[in-house]
Amino acid sequence: MSARTREELARWARDLEGKEPAEILSAVTAAFPPGRVGFATGFGPEGCVLVDVAARARLPLDVFTIDTGTLFPETYALWNRLEARYGLSIRRVASATADAPVADGAAPPWEADPDRCCELRKVLPLRAELARFDAWVTAIRRDQTADRAGAAIVEWDERFGLVKVNPLAAWSSADVWRHVRAHEVPTSPLHDQGYASIGCAPCTTPVGAGEDPRAGRWRGRAKKECGLHARPVALRPPTPTPTPTPTPTSTPTSTPPRSFARGGFILWLTGLSGAGKSTLSRVLQAALATERPVEILDGDEVRTYLSAGLGFSKEDRDTNVRRIGFVARLLARNGAAAVTAAISPYAETRNEVRSLAERDGVPFVEVFVSAPVAALAARDVKGLYRKALAGELTRFTGVSDPYEPPERPDVVVRTDVETIDESVETILEHLRARGLLRPGDARTAEERAS
Ligand code: SF4
Repeated sequence: MSARTREELARWARDLEGKEPAEILSAVTAAFPPGRVGFATGFGPEGCVLVDVAARARLPLDVFTIDTGTLFPETYALWNRLEARYGLSIRRVASATADAPVADGAAPPWEADPDRCCELRKVLPLRAELARFDAWVTAIRRDQTADRAGAAIVEWDERFGLVKVNPLAAWSSADVWRHVRAHEVPTSPLHDQGYASIGCAPCTTPVGAGEDPRAGRWRGRAKKECGLHARPVALRPPTPTPTPTPTPTSTPTSTPPRSFARGGFILWLTGLSGAGKSTLSRVLQAALATERPVEILDGDEVRTYLSAGLGFSKEDRDTNVRRIGFVARLLARNGAAAVTAAISPYAETRNEVRSLAERDGVPFVEVFVSAPVAALAARDVKGLYRKALAGELTRFTGVSDPYEPPERPDVVVRTDVETIDESVETILEHLRARGLLRPGDARTAEERAS
């Protein structure tokens, strides 16, 4: 440790005070070698905000979470939503004791000795994980607890022996929720049920009006920290290297969008079951595959290979759509025309997929494959619509489960009154008008038939 380095870290903290989280994270990731800055998230709203910030700015953070094995199901679902929404992987770091059995008659470890339980399930796995980093990012805020009140933007973490970065240290809870709303950041649905601070399920309860947000953690005990952010934290230099370079004012707040292979786009077909999405997608593939790869993401195939195990609740349907959107985006970024053929019943989720694509510079074309239920029932050889209309099938989209038609689709095709070729031509015309298809690029109906 040298006095000069200690002063540098303190000065860096002062320079970063008042900067936006994106600026802070940009400065930190620029100051350390690639792969040496980790971000441990527990999926609180603050952590979700930092995931959003890092993803938008495309910062090279190694994002991970300590899976104690006792998290809420909603937390695991949020984990999936964040990965799908931002197209990143949040690494699971498992607690060694997560699956340890509890002897008959014995109190579970979180009741018998919660400090020891946190030490084993959280602190030790985190310590082992942090050994691979020079700096770790946390989502703590100064106004959360007395222990956190003195947090600097960057500081030396005495407990774990590396630089600790707290980009939200100066934020209030209101700042966090303002960002969540402004950027539609996914957060836990448990917040709507009165859970303010969410940790492991056995140790977290909702809070009442006027209660401290962390009053629901380890309720009835003095314990309010799991030990990850306990003081003392003293300013000390990172050892042995690297020394952070205090250049926050020259650090960009974000990196420019990636450049993508030319020609890729997403053609998102949405509509009721039997409306003709799969048929349209195959004909579109034949029409478009003259100068670019065309890949179809068909709803039925996706549910077999990509979304096996998902059911038909709104949450599962949304997850399925987000996965399709994620893969479509990857394909389009690499020059393919990604044609999706899935019911995708909820407008909000479709809009979310569109936003992510457009954020990445991927053109997104929403096609409403429209046909009334009566027409679909009339041509339904499997008799599913008849059963659903008779009340024999639950969760049948458009009859016993919601379908939200697009309010402003890019293209509408009416498959109850148009031929497939007419619908395809309508879509191709739109692609030409958008500059996504040059005249003569697509195969005509005659060429497709020959
Ligand atoms: S929060 Fe509870 S269950 Fe989770 S590690 Fe701590 S004591 Fe154990």
